[in-house]
Amino acid sequence: MKFSNLKLSTPYLELDPSFYTKVEPTPLSNPFVISTSKDAALLLGVDENLDLDEKLVDIINGSLKLEGSETFAMCYSGHQFGHFAGRLGDGRAINLGKVNGQNLQLKGAGLTEYSRQGDGRAVLRSSIREYLMSEAMHGLGIQTSRALALIGSDTDVARERWEKGAIVLRLSPTWVRFGTFEYFNSTGEHTKLQSLADYVIDESFPHLKGVESAYLKMYAEIVRNTALTIAKWQSVGFNHGVMNTDNMSIDGSTIDYGPFAFLDDYKKEYICNHTDSDGQYRFSNQPATAHWNLERLAVALSPMINYDDMDEILDDVFRPTLEKEYSEIMYAKMGLAKEDEDDKDLFYELLRSLEMASIDYTLFFRKLSHFNGDKSPLLDICINREYLKKWLDMYESRLEKEDISEEERHKKMLRVNPKYILKNHILQEAIEKAQEGDFSMVNDLLTVAYKPFDEFPDLEYLTKPVPMSSKNLKLSCSS
Ligand code: AMP
Ligand code: MG
Repeated sequence: MKFSNLKLSTPYLELDPSFYTKVEPTPLSNPFVISTSKDAALLLGVDENLDLDEKLVDIINGSLKLEGSETFAMCYSGHQFGHFAGRLGDGRAINLGKVNGQNLQLKGAGLTEYSRQGDGRAVLRSSIREYLMSEAMHGLGIQTSRALALIGSDTDVARERWEKGAIVLRLSPTWVRFGTFEYFNSTGEHTKLQSLADYVIDESFPHLKGVESAYLKMYAEIVRNTALTIAKWQSVGFNHGVMNTDNMSIDGSTIDYGPFAFLDDYKKEYICNHTDSDGQYRFSNQPATAHWNLERLAVALSPMINYDDMDEILDDVFRPTLEKEYSEIMYAKMGLAKEDEDDKDLFYELLRSLEMASIDYTLFFRKLSHFNGDKSPLLDICINREYLKKWLDMYESRLEKEDISEEERHKKMLRVNPKYILKNHILQEAIEKAQEGDFSMVNDLLTVAYKPFDEFPDLEYLTKPVPMSSKNLKLSCSS
């Protein structure tokens, strides 16, 4: 089936009108398709050659509607950098409706009731970042919103300088955020909290429908899903950058890609967001931030669920889930199948050595996946060799306790240690080319985004080392 023949439904509009505002998109001028995601098309069950659908560009530009589509922006609030921010809402995202379990949303499609001082637009630079990262996180096995297509335009948008406007058509099984509950708690409309909880159970946790203590169990699942996602972020070296509660999805997925970054060299105190002067959302603080955000959610839900019960669940579920998941992934990344009593030291020393050695986190694990006793390929990519050398000695003797063959270990490790990571320096290069009208690198990055563990000999240039001057930079929030 063609994408343009899809028929949408709009279950969110069955909620009270205070949950949303109906709004028409404001199309960009001279829109054109930059890239489409075959893999995301599969989610919708439509022909993967989206480019051949001549109506695609007008649908994404908001000048043509899919059957059944009624466009609206969602209302929510949230805690931003620790402070309650009042009413926020979709200031530049416009929802089209739902099909195949996916809610379709245009990001950058113009002003809404919730735009405040914003212009309702998204620039090409940030749209490329969101488009590619959504697909890349999925490729890495991390729960995330997805991106179906990216369009560019001639529309000028003012940021630090003039840039061109773009729109990403993004998909998610839910766009409800922690902040959506916080909004209806802040207004004191507690019956609306309950209708939202019923909606969330229908949409994201249907197995809880009609179950005893369903709301408390919903909270437990949100805690668990969030812990699993954060464990994956920490293991792959992903720094989200703006973990406000309005950017926390109720199903635990990664959403709202802004000034995110992957670690270049392993630095656990890395802060990717330029405006985060206190480092609240720094890499090492992501688990604690998620925990704090889950507390805010519990407060918002407290008119309908006993707070102490939620607090107990948060204590019982969050840390243990996160630690178990993180440790399992890190064991797999090291190629260790069996647990040994000294492994805590081995792991602690690993992170310390990586930090001291000044070594690229992703490249380290990819090279470790080929380790055969020769330490030079690893030592050659770090600055302070002695730290890593000591750890590799420990690792080498630890490997003797493992049962599997070297070949088998390499094979397993290559499936969990990605070769292709969309680091900022490579994204920046793709953006600069795209701003000159050359979108080839965007599409090359999309190819590796789907399969980050595979080898693409023709796309080797995408793994070139990060120049010293571009390592672990901070990014501006303006997007
Ligand atoms: P973010 O930090 O991108 O998650 O955005 C926080 C809030 O600001 C959300 O309510 C966004 O919809 C809104 N917002 C961000 N950028 C814009 C913009 N250019 N125009 C209107 N609203 C915006
Ligand atoms: Mg946001």
